[in-house]
Amino acid sequence: MDLHLSAEQVAVRELAADFVNREVVPHAATWDRREAVDPGIVGKLGDVGFLGLTIDEEYGGSGGDHLAYCLVLEELGRGDSAVRGIVSVSLGLVAKSIATHGTPEQRERWLPALCSGTALGCFALTEPDSGSDAAALTTRAVRDGDDWLLTGRKTFITNGTTADVALLFARTGGPGHRGITAFLVPTDSPGLSRSEIKGKLGLRGQATAELVLDDVRVPDTARLGECGAGFRLALGTLAKGRMSVAAGCVGIAQGCLNAAVDYAGTRTQFGKPIAGHQLVQQLLARIAVDTAAARLLVWQVADLIDRGQPYATEASMAKLFASEAAVRAANDAIQVFGGYGYIDEYPVGKYLRDARVTTLYEGTSQIQQLLIGRALTGVNAF
Ligand code: FAD
Repeated sequence: MDLHLSAEQVAVRELAADFVNREVVPHAATWDRREAVDPGIVGKLGDVGFLGLTIDEEYGGSGGDHLAYCLVLEELGRGDSAVRGIVSVSLGLVAKSIATHGTPEQRERWLPALCSGTALGCFALTEPDSGSDAAALTTRAVRDGDDWLLTGRKTFITNGTTADVALLFARTGGPGHRGITAFLVPTDSPGLSRSEIKGKLGLRGQATAELVLDDVRVPDTARLGECGAGFRLALGTLAKGRMSVAAGCVGIAQGCLNAAVDYAGTRTQFGKPIAGHQLVQQLLARIAVDTAAARLLVWQVADLIDRGQPYATEASMAKLFASEAAVRAANDAIQVFGGYGYIDEYPVGKYLRDARVTTLYEGTSQIQQLLIGRALTGVNAF
């Protein structure tokens, strides 16, 4: 693995850093307080090419590699995880699945719009009674002539109220993962209602929603992949998704480090800047090591994907480590800020709230440990 970035990757990182400093950082606290990002941010993300970064140019993307994608997500995570999540889900989970598994017609219909930000995607797997055990989902799709009728309930769906298309998983066969099929459901379909889940601890700018489907009719051409292959598709998609969550966590940790080092240099106690107290330096060193280690794990996954190698276990390792490192980094940064870290005039409290969910979604830390444990032992301990 080459740890030196190419000129192209450096340019993408600089573009992302500049975009985040201009379009995200100045607004992140406001969006957090009012529990909604400015909807215009989606178009801006599309204009700068971030919503189609890893999609082929033929379909309106930029044809970038996965390391470039991670560099962009790191910068977005430094700015506002709510914005990072919009990109991770619409591009990483939805557009990428359509590019990989879609028919030419499905690609033509959705990819140019998703890449430009004129359409947004959401990924609807979780249900009220099936979270970690996603294969226990009960939303049903029943065949009706050339169509399918979908009925059920999805919850905690990122971009749920703002998306134009839901990559949605429903049961078309018997129990277990082999009975699950993926569908591309336009969110304006009759019978589909959406309501936003308010009062989240973090990611408050992001639209997280419940979707209720009551006999939602979609043609068979809305089926993504084979009947019964939906759960395998979801698992493959989530493995890559874990890399993107981890990349966002590196951004959170880096943001914490930047803020804590700056503050430690200016805050004076006991007659000198607190940066000169050894125990404060210990906190800063711990954040720096966590950030660097998480970044290397993320780059490893991106490198494996770009070289066509297996990466699922490494993605679980990166997600497990980076999410917990981001929580530790934010906690340590608050400690450096003292009481000022506890009010939202400074970004570190928001970093902690935003980091916390990354140990929960796209597979909790326990689920990542079980995945890594299974890869090590060959024994399924779920
Ligand atoms: P549970 O599965 O009920 O787990 C509860 C606890 O039990 C956890 O600690 C878990 O680790 C533990 N546990 C469960 N099983 C085991 C086991 N076998 N061994 C050891 N411990 C176990 N879902 C989507 O489909 N799309 C989205 O876009 C999306 N976005 C989200 C955004 C937010 C802000 C949040 C909070 C969630 C989102 N989710 C989304 C759902 C998320 O993926 C689930 O919350 C997650 O998978 C955990 O499921 P659960 O909440 O039902 O917890």
